[in-house]
Amino acid sequence: MPRTETARAPAVWLGAMLALAPPALLVCWQGVTADESHGGPASQAASQSSSSQGASHPSSAPASQSAENRGHLTQLPQLSKVSPDFPDFERLHQALRLLQAGHYAEADRLAAALAADANHPMPRAWLVAAQARQYLRQFPAAAEAYKSFLAASDTPVGREYVQRQLSLCEAAAEPPAGDSSLPSLRLTAQDRKELAVVEANEVVQTSEHFIVTARNAKLAKLIDQEAESALKRVCGLILGGQEYPHRVRIHVWVDRKDYLTHASGALNWSGGSFTLTRDAGVVNRRIDLAQLDGKKALSLATIDRATPHELCHLVVAEFFGDAPCPLFLSEALAMLAEPQLDNDRLLLAGTALAGKGKIPLADLLIVEAGRIDKPDLFYAESYSFLLYLRQRMGEKALAAMIENVKNGSPLAEALQRALHSPEDPDFLKLLQAAWEKYAIDQAQYIRALRSPATKPAG
Ligand SMILES: [Zn+2]
Repeated sequence: MPRTETARAPAVWLGAMLALAPPALLVCWQGVTADESHGGPASQAASQSSSSQGASHPSSAPASQSAENRGHLTQLPQLSKVSPDFPDFERLHQALRLLQAGHYAEADRLAAALAADANHPMPRAWLVAAQARQYLRQFPAAAEAYKSFLAASDTPVGREYVQRQLSLCEAAAEPPAGDSSLPSLRLTAQDRKELAVVEANEVVQTSEHFIVTARNAKLAKLIDQEAESALKRVCGLILGGQEYPHRVRIHVWVDRKDYLTHASGALNWSGGSFTLTRDAGVVNRRIDLAQLDGKKALSLATIDRATPHELCHLVVAEFFGDAPCPLFLSEALAMLAEPQLDNDRLLLAGTALAGKGKIPLADLLIVEAGRIDKPDLFYAESYSFLLYLRQRMGEKALAAMIENVKNGSPLAEALQRALHSPEDPDFLKLLQAAWEKYAIDQAQYIRALRSPATKPAG
């Protein structure tokens, strides 16, 4: 099913930003005061922001979330000492006051001018500008401000938080047309109607990497385009961006019954499947899908999810060859190949990891096919964990780690090496704790996005 709430509910986004603002600002300030030689009054400003900002936006966060934020604040270490003679400090403080008072455009103007000042550039002012732009829903501009801060500051303190804010801004920014949004969202009602027509004859659409057969010429073309886009993502994830040198046959059968009749080995509940076989030295690469859903309408799941998911499984299977690929990795990669983040899965994972019903990391890594106790949670946690790894190590290092696993490195060892972690018998426990924190934060954020109580203040 398509999930469309991300980046498409402006008021809710703004509310969520407000709800998260106090800890975000504090962590950022903490980071810059530790990084720069001056900034003492910044610690005062930060302390003031933690109490006054909550008061100035009493309706911005649900009670439970405010409590969580306060809890978060108390965990922050003391801010570092500063010298009082920083020439532009008063103006920076003024920008912060403007931000707290809800004068976002003014706060942004002043902070950006301070940050980019030709004589005394003040990189930390980018954080005020970034926050102001978040409130203004100017997500691409906010992302730029966070990037400017990160480029000018090498402190590790608070950096992870700023990077997460940057990711959220990038996710909230309108995706470029034809790029990362769900393909079905680009279809009009008329498109969907036309794509659901079952034509008398099969048509074949051929491109560089695919030969698509369907009973609808327009659908064959669309599946071909989506498969090409998905292949680019998959190559980035697994092949380190290398070109895929093969061609895959895609059969789009009319409906589930037709699909189950023709797709060899397809499971009853599945919406798509892949096969990789060798026949007299010839490798056959094939994906089977269905055109219509149970209501005889165009299957959006086929376009949005099954096509990239099965394609990724196929590429992973061929890449690993005879080497075993951990199930969590194979499924997580297939989910990551889908064109849009799946917040439902992230919410499920974060909620479970905050409570008692979770699958511990050590167990998640060794789950085998056919032995999944809690399938939904297994998928959700696998997805969340791989997203965490990608965020922490970057796509290139993740691809190198996957290659190590393929070459026989035990998973824990490959993870340890890729994360540059020292030898430690508790490595997996520490990794679990760090991932949990990330996943719980992410779920809290998604919850705030969806909460009707998070209305923008002012
Ligand atoms: Zn799968």
